[in-house]
Amino acid sequence: MQRTERHDILIIGAGPAGSVAAALLKQQGREVLIIEREIFPRFSIGESLLPQSMAYLEEAGMLRAVIEAGFQFKNGAAFVRGDRYTDFDFRDKHSEGWGTTYQVQRGRFDHVLAMEAERQGAEVRYRHEVIAADMDGERPVVEVKSPDGEVYRIEANFVLDASGFGRILPRLLKLETPSDFPVRGAIFTHIEDRIPVGTFDRNKIRITIHREHVDVWYWLIPFADGRCSIGVVAKQDFLAQYQGSDTERLQALVFEDPASQALLANAQWDTPARHIVGYAANVTSLYGKHFALLGNAGEFLDPVFSSGVTIAFKSASLASDCLRRQAAGETVDWQNDYAVALKQGVDTFRAFVESWYAGGFQRIIFHENPPAKVRRNICAILAGYAWDQTNPYVAETKRRLGVLEELCK
Ligand code: FAD
Repeated sequence: MQRTERHDILIIGAGPAGSVAAALLKQQGREVLIIEREIFPRFSIGESLLPQSMAYLEEAGMLRAVIEAGFQFKNGAAFVRGDRYTDFDFRDKHSEGWGTTYQVQRGRFDHVLAMEAERQGAEVRYRHEVIAADMDGERPVVEVKSPDGEVYRIEANFVLDASGFGRILPRLLKLETPSDFPVRGAIFTHIEDRIPVGTFDRNKIRITIHREHVDVWYWLIPFADGRCSIGVVAKQDFLAQYQGSDTERLQALVFEDPASQALLANAQWDTPARHIVGYAANVTSLYGKHFALLGNAGEFLDPVFSSGVTIAFKSASLASDCLRRQAAGETVDWQNDYAVALKQGVDTFRAFVESWYAGGFQRIIFHENPPAKVRRNICAILAGYAWDQTNPYVAETKRRLGVLEELCK
């Protein structure tokens, strides 16, 4: 007979969404248990943060710990295609709020956040895995497998699924639905870059677009320790043309860009590359009776604008606010107050992602004489302020982007 534990809030996954949600709920006086499949620190992809995310770290009482961890300072994004270069300084943007942030090794970053959630009173159980869920009863019940193989039940008042690409509730409750985006993949690794000082702005993510293929791009994300994250994103069938180990495939692709080849001439490729395919995902609903899906467990769009962690934090903030109001006896409309509210910003990013892969956004950013106001509006979205309705490119994203694309032809 399985033993059953009873808890108030159960969070599945101690990634950015889970840890921030846990801290916010602890601030409300809730009892919080996080079940995390891995032991931390563990590798995770998604290393370039956006300034908007700093507001959520502040709200969750985690900012000091993140600052003290000494990650690489970040103040913007640079875009390169052939001999064209443009960069955005996030401090010069339309929206109020943080204009700088960090580039982080996610193993350590996620560990810092999880330890902060614990310090604030949440319990984190590492190497425990949620394997089944029943959301139909009076209270939700999940089955958990412990490291020694014991399977036990947890009954909770509410479950937040922050399982990221694990997408545990979407899979178990059959909520998964395909993304509208084509199947793309990424090959990536960490290198000791040995880029000579002064030849490269380490305070910015560098996005390079393939010379011939507008929808193939590379990231270079410098860290504070002389290392970089490097990766390439392309459609699955394009990547399939490249043979060999993931490191060989990544090198072949990166060296097709002469500027990247020159920049990385002395780099030490000391860590085997890995790949991920078909990460874009969606669900039929972001919430249900007694549960909500946070971060990647809900929807994941695309890595190009580094929006994933910001969206994960935003979802944690919105969901914990809904739970606060619910506990205070208010009737919460999860559709409007959570799903629609979250999707507003996600849809802004979606329009930018669509424009990026069609080449329109690239025409806009490489335009020679862009009006300063337009650049500040676009910069705000690149900095993560995709929910700021005072920005016309948030309020009317598609129409405004369409007009700009035409003007920049
Ligand atoms: P995760 O970070 O995935 O955390 C989920 C946690 O749940 C994990 O620790 C996992 O072990 C745990 N878990 C899973 N299943 C179970 C289970 N059954 N039981 C218990 N625990 C479980 N985002 C950015 O902000 N910046 C970037 O530069 C960026 N680059 C990216 C590049 C690529 C190629 C890709 C694919 C994504 C990128 N992202 C980026 C997105 C980013 O990785 C995610 O959006 C972000 O990690 C989502 O956070 P999360 O908390 O929702 O989930």
